[in-house]
Amino acid sequence: MVMAPSAITTTYAEIYDLEHYSNTLKLVTENSDVKHHKIESLTSKESVLDVFKKRIAEINVDSCQPGEEDAFYVADLGEVYRQHLRWKMNLARVKPFYAVKCNPDDEVLRLLAKLGTGFDCASQAEIEQVLKLGVDPARIIYAQPCKTKSYIRYAAKVGVKQMTFDNADELLKIKQFFPDAELVLRILTDDSASLCRLSAKFGASLDKTQELLDLARNLGLNVTGVSFHVGSGASDPASFTKAVRDARVVFDQATSAGFNLQMLDVGGGFVDGRFETFASALTEALEEHFPPYIRIIAEPGRYYVANAFSMAANIIARRDVQDGLTGERAYMLYLNDGVYGNFSNIIFDHQHPSAKILNCRDPYQIPTDYSIWGPTCDGIDVITERCTLPGVLNVGDWLFFDEMGAYTRCSATRFNGFTNKHEVIYVSSEPGAVALLRSCECQS
Ligand SMILES: *Cc1c(COP(=O)(O)O)cnc(C)c1O
Repeated sequence: MVMAPSAITTTYAEIYDLEHYSNTLKLVTENSDVKHHKIESLTSKESVLDVFKKRIAEINVDSCQPGEEDAFYVADLGEVYRQHLRWKMNLARVKPFYAVKCNPDDEVLRLLAKLGTGFDCASQAEIEQVLKLGVDPARIIYAQPCKTKSYIRYAAKVGVKQMTFDNADELLKIKQFFPDAELVLRILTDDSASLCRLSAKFGASLDKTQELLDLARNLGLNVTGVSFHVGSGASDPASFTKAVRDARVVFDQATSAGFNLQMLDVGGGFVDGRFETFASALTEALEEHFPPYIRIIAEPGRYYVANAFSMAANIIARRDVQDGLTGERAYMLYLNDGVYGNFSNIIFDHQHPSAKILNCRDPYQIPTDYSIWGPTCDGIDVITERCTLPGVLNVGDWLFFDEMGAYTRCSATRFNGFTNKHEVIYVSSEPGAVALLRSCECQS
């Protein structure tokens, strides 16, 4: 289905250089619900810090309105752009379908749409969000093996044909509501070396796959590929090697069931740190087991966005605590964001965000020990149990945290009455990303 041109123009951003920064900022702040974000050109990564500093200089915690001192993000879309080029250079054969759940930020999705990626969606709302950008439904895979019936009907209506399954009941549902779907059989993998394990919940084991393929055949359904997910935040390249080998087994089972599979989906799990190592292990396994005419896609989430977002939070309270052993001063700091908010990645994604000083009015920079807490009344709401920072921080000072782009904002709650809507200031350290976002045509 092709979206009306107006659907594209509503998300069209205007772009300014850094010198227009303060005007632009005002507009973003005043209309934080408006889709027209301004995107700044930056010259280097350091400028992200300048943007933070400029923004906090406008906030006076002694006189501002409630919430004006809320935590906020700076997103460098140039980082997303660079990660895409890096993907192309190392995994040329594999077409990325960005996993929307990781960070469904509209500007990120818009940039990726223009870069020509596909999208991995898991719900009606995610599919709708991507279609609104003017993306062709053929560039979406509905990669949730256990789907809501009404969402399957929705996918059929809007023409999102590619979807995963991993059990017999799902095949019956698909037979009922979308018999023409292009089905991708998700198999189980060894995800023991990953940060967030998924295999307890999803994936057919290799002793069940033949049965499922035969059932699909008997139901007259259209199986077109195999998928797996080695677990989010994978740490062992061998998990890809093993999963690709297993996928080959299932391809051959499918042939014996009368299917001619055309597509392999290698899922997500890619991390920034050892990307090249993973990419070469994967490329090698693909070359060994899958001839070039097999289409290969992937569903990276974290890889694209983790480093693109940094976040600042305000110190709203402080308690000084004497260290019983050393007699040294230490402090408990309370921020206006915590694990029920953007630091939900601590609970759900097993992350350890590292605090850095954004501004501190103490001139002496003496190393000082802290524990850092969130704003809610729950004791579980702790960000860091112990860290040392250079200086004595006080109420009203600001901290910032890098690598806050993956599984943060999207899983924030409003528990205890705190907001889950946080301002994002968009910048770009890559002129190429700015040029793409400025162009109004959506690549398809
Ligand atoms: C969460 C998820 C992804 C993304 O995983 P990352 O580790 O962020 O790359 C991809 N595919 C599926 C099916 C997922 O559930």
